[in-house]
Amino acid sequence: MNITEFAKIIKSGPVQDITEEQIDKLYRHMNMVLEKNRVMNLTSIEDPYEFVVKHILDSLTAAEYVKDCRTIIDVGTGAGFPGMPLKLLYPDKEVTFLDSTAKKVEFIRECGSALSVEPARYVHGRAEDIGHLPEYRGKFDCAVARAVASLPVLAEYCIPLLKKGGIFVAMKSSNVDEELDSCKNALSELRSTFVRCDRFFLPNTDIARSIVVFQLTGTVPEKYPRKAGLPSKKPL
Ligand code: SAH
Repeated sequence: MNITEFAKIIKSGPVQDITEEQIDKLYRHMNMVLEKNRVMNLTSIEDPYEFVVKHILDSLTAAEYVKDCRTIIDVGTGAGFPGMPLKLLYPDKEVTFLDSTAKKVEFIRECGSALSVEPARYVHGRAEDIGHLPEYRGKFDCAVARAVASLPVLAEYCIPLLKKGGIFVAMKSSNVDEELDSCKNALSELRSTFVRCDRFFLPNTDIARSIVVFQLTGTVPEKYPRKAGLPSKKPL
């Protein structure tokens, strides 16, 4: 796919206000991921057309939700989704890329350096551990996550990283109802509230997605997140 075709698809997406330079960087990130994917398992999507829609446009659907946040952490970023498209769209925001796989963090650091994205931070670790370090606990205006775990599990990973009043933006597929129902206890334990759940289709497709927003309204008890592995084994 050439850059002209790429730009046309990007402009058909959720974000209209985007410069040629930003589009060029999104394109370069895509090519770095596809290239690296030959030697490392980063994504099952190899077709560039599918890639633009399912990874890049999908990531950009979160743009509107994070626009008022200065510090963002992408929990379980993998090859940089949604963190890298959001960072390229909003260069002034400080984005922290967190993943528990060292090689993925190394890769996204290389991308960040090649694309000159500053300020950005790259953190290798599990959310359950990072959530207890003073450098990260209670420090973010927003946490985002896509395709990492179910909502109650993700809530325990993400909410302890938020400042009071901060938001957790979860990117989900369409059938989110059951997960939402199972979040009540997690939200009360984590002193948070449900803000909204929006459902939509990816541009020009019948691919349904939803975005769920929670807000930290109190102070997360010290015992959360529980030790690594426990949130997914015994969700709140
Ligand atoms: N967000 C990316 C990657 C999803 S795959 C995308 O949407 O394409 C899930 C990623 O989460 C993997 O890279 C995995 O290493 C990471 N991950 C899983 N559990 C984690 C945890 N407890 N803490 C940090 N990262 C985690």
